[in-house]
Amino acid sequence: KGAIIQQLKSLNIEIIDEIEFGFRYAKSATIIAITGSNGKTTVTGLTHHVLKTAGLNARLGGNIGISFAKQVAELDNLESVVFILEVSSFQLDYCSTFRPDISILINITPDHLDRYDYKFENYVASKFRITQSQTATDIFIFNEKDEAINAVLKKPSLEINAKKIGISNIYNKKGALEVGQNIFDTNKMSLKGPHNHFNAACAIRVSQLLGLPKAAIEEGLATFKNAPHRLELITNINGIDFINDSKATNIDSAFQALRAMSQPTIWIAGGTDKGNDYNVLVDLVKEKVTALICLCEDSSKLLAAFEGIIPIIKETKDIKEAVKMAYELANKGNTVLLSPACASFDLFDNYVARGDLFREAVYNYQLIINN
Ligand code: ADP
Repeated sequence: KGAIIQQLKSLNIEIIDEIEFGFRYAKSATIIAITGSNGKTTVTGLTHHVLKTAGLNARLGGNIGISFAKQVAELDNLESVVFILEVSSFQLDYCSTFRPDISILINITPDHLDRYDYKFENYVASKFRITQSQTATDIFIFNEKDEAINAVLKKPSLEINAKKIGISNIYNKKGALEVGQNIFDTNKMSLKGPHNHFNAACAIRVSQLLGLPKAAIEEGLATFKNAPHRLELITNINGIDFINDSKATNIDSAFQALRAMSQPTIWIAGGTDKGNDYNVLVDLVKEKVTALICLCEDSSKLLAAFEGIIPIIKETKDIKEAVKMAYELANKGNTVLLSPACASFDLFDNYVARGDLFREAVYNYQLIINN
């Protein structure tokens, strides 16, 4: 495959992403495009759900669900369609005219550096491509608290023509979510944790821009069910919650998961390292984690980072054993969290297989314990 691409490049033949291809035939539709290091699937799914629940002809696409281009080819009346597209940095690398009506940049934290010559600035630049074809009638929603995003926005050379809407300080004094003119009770939302409240704020902003009333937005926020492997509560075994966050394949997603934990946590982590710097987790780990189970081929980096910081550290390459160890280490009222901070390829086919095997191991262990 690589050889073909190289050949096409040397012949100066244009190579475009499927998103770019679909877009060239979908200009009459409303397009919302979502990118970021973490939270893309959640924000895309949630926005789609809220718009659909409110009665709009909302369609999911991009890096998720059915191909965007296929839907463009098959749907009639594109004027009435709102596409909500999850877009990765790799897809943006091969977009030249793609112009979403609303773009969202959730955050930029180090990830996939192996594919960007280990240069964070290359990865950042690729995320900002989501705005490159936008004009003054389009909108760019971004995380105003994100350091990497702010650093780029300050650059005088940067040209963003879209109207910028920053999201920050989402909570009011009572702890409710205040977005635009509306206030939302976080207890009524299906998604939990500050990172998910931010994700919700993105979906709310889009809904408001499309003219949806508060009650309709609220209903969507309450009834949304997130995709599996993202802080997915599997079950409770004798007072111990088991949570599958296998999709946490980088440091920041694991950071957000740990931050969302309200009980002492047995943390199962590890996998294929992507150039991780665990230092940023140390304070949070001290506060939340009572034991670490390294589930990976090579735990040397985790051990170096957390020995002397987490009182109990165990190692295994077997996910069933990890579940058993975690249960034995946990007390009633504790949480067992699989949030690896690493890719899965050392022991598993992908993060889905890792999460599915974890869920299965937890259910099997529950059967053993309860019999
Ligand atoms: P993506 O599609 O960008 O990989 P997901 O919605 O699948 O994002 O979530 C990936 C991981 O990141 C999960 O572990 C999830 O809990 C975590 N996550 C979700 N939203 C955020 C956010 N706004 N900031 C940081 N981490 C997040």
